[in-house]
Amino acid sequence: MISGHTKLACVIGDPVKHSVSPAIHNSAFEALGLDWVYVALEVSRSNLAAFISILSDIGFQGASITMPYKETVAGLVDVLEGDARKISSVNTIRVTSEGTLEGHSTDGPGFLACLNKEFIDTEGLKVGILGAGGAARAVSLSLLNNPIESLVVVNRTPERCDLLVGLDPSRVRVGKPSDLASCDLVINATPLGMGSNQGLTPVDPGLFSPGQIYVDLIYWPPATKMMVALEKRGVRVVSGISMLVHQAALAFELWTGLKAPLDVMTRAAISQLISQSNHS
Ligand code: NAP
Repeated sequence: MISGHTKLACVIGDPVKHSVSPAIHNSAFEALGLDWVYVALEVSRSNLAAFISILSDIGFQGASITMPYKETVAGLVDVLEGDARKISSVNTIRVTSEGTLEGHSTDGPGFLACLNKEFIDTEGLKVGILGAGGAARAVSLSLLNNPIESLVVVNRTPERCDLLVGLDPSRVRVGKPSDLASCDLVINATPLGMGSNQGLTPVDPGLFSPGQIYVDLIYWPPATKMMVALEKRGVRVVSGISMLVHQAALAFELWTGLKAPLDVMTRAAISQLISQSNHS
């Protein structure tokens, strides 16, 4: 039962109505008997700074930040922690008992946990990443903390790749779509394939061949047009759903200090996605 004592958390983005994060977090709160509730808030860019500034005053203990605000929010919190400081991107805000807003990024560790679950060893991999936004930065930083051989970044706006190259100039370079043909692992960190872009593929699937691995960070739809096309070409494909659950679990642990019930959260995410797909 929600009461005046109920602790609040939310996801802030635009658009955000498709988000499965409320299902994931509320199932975890319920499983552990916590008096918390998590809601999705579609906040416009013009209201974002004002909203973040009152987050603590109106009683929120934590927030998830999603597209397109991860970089903007990095400039709005009181302190940036760990990965968030290095990549100027925040996907999780923790409100301390003093009301300080801490900015964290759990996307990179969430991505590595997803690779781990899929038994994908990063050692010696030639990696390609599509995109240079918040998710691309987080995933790249985590990969560069591992012994990958190289990382090629392919982005619509090449100047936006500078931060990524600066993370490790000896292993990271800016490339073009054809460079992805020689990568062992390719990650899509663009929205090309979701929402109004559902009919698009981020690059030509014909560039890929069997033996490559493609991870789409998109989790809705669960199988993007690119994933379907690549599977037919014998490429191993992985959906963003596992990363979504793992990054959420890390946020949950930051807010509550408790171990996240990963199985419960995974089941909630999958059943929410099935329910959304039945209603679309
Ligand atoms: P972001 O910071 O807004 O970055 C978006 C990136 O996509 C930028 O590099 C942008 O290029 C590129 N892009 C956007 N529209 C494009 C278009 N029409 N054509 C070509 N490139 C385009 O977003 P983000 O937070 O990094 O999120 C990126 C994707 O990852 C989203 O699909 C998001 O849902 C997904 N994601 C999934 C998880 C998960 O847990 N599974 C976690 C985080 C993010 P420019 O630099 O040229 O603008």
